[in-house]
Amino acid sequence: MNEPRPLKPLKEDWSRALAIVAHPDDMEFGAAAAVARWTDQGKWVGYVMVTSGEAGIDGMHPDECRVVREKEQIDSAAIVGVDTVDFLGFPDGTLEYGLDLRRAIALAVRRHRPEIVITGNFHDTWGSGNLNQADHIAVGRAVLDGVRDAGNRWIFSEQLVDGLEPWGGVRQVWTSGSPLAKHGADTTATFDRGVESLKAHRAYIDGLGWDHFDEREFLEGMGRATGTRLGVPFAAAFEVISLAWGGEDDD
Ligand SMILES: [Zn+2]
Repeated sequence: MNEPRPLKPLKEDWSRALAIVAHPDDMEFGAAAAVARWTDQGKWVGYVMVTSGEAGIDGMHPDECRVVREKEQIDSAAIVGVDTVDFLGFPDGTLEYGLDLRRAIALAVRRHRPEIVITGNFHDTWGSGNLNQADHIAVGRAVLDGVRDAGNRWIFSEQLVDGLEPWGGVRQVWTSGSPLAKHGADTTATFDRGVESLKAHRAYIDGLGWDHFDEREFLEGMGRATGTRLGVPFAAAFEVISLAWGGEDDD
């Protein structure tokens, strides 16, 4: 058994972050307690859901499911201090990396003007070796590119009307759940709200049909292992990808 690799604390010298993820629930399986930490510090965090997770419940038609899951996500976000949740309306389960996705992400970044963009793991696997999901991979790749597109006035320039400007202010993309994470946020004080935010996805979790799934136990297992790497009781881990050459160091 290898020693757990230590994590460095994330920088917290920013005021606006935008989380862009594929599905309702993606933030709540690990990152939401960190969001609560940051909103408690007075920072603004907004959520963008690329899909509404409408294909996520086997026994519920997508037309009905979309409404249920959007409501659950809005409630879940409010628990961690997030009151802006945008739904981009892309098709759940069949996302493709491409210009349509980059264009929509660039628009969200231009509108919300974050310094930090948070997304989910987009590597082929999780640290456990389990296969990642296709939508996560497509969104993560498109986030990296869409964030850069947002700063270039000659890319998706049709968006730059009614006062909307390019936004090149994103310093870093933080990837939650990445097997390459080297940074972490202490979530000890906000851990319980992370649990509550996951519980808010009631219909989704029930629909998974996992017997005896316990939100707290699940998040504790992950949070404690990550906390050990950061030297605190509970933490969330992120891979940091810098957008600026030379301007930002990694620690
Ligand atoms: Zn997902």
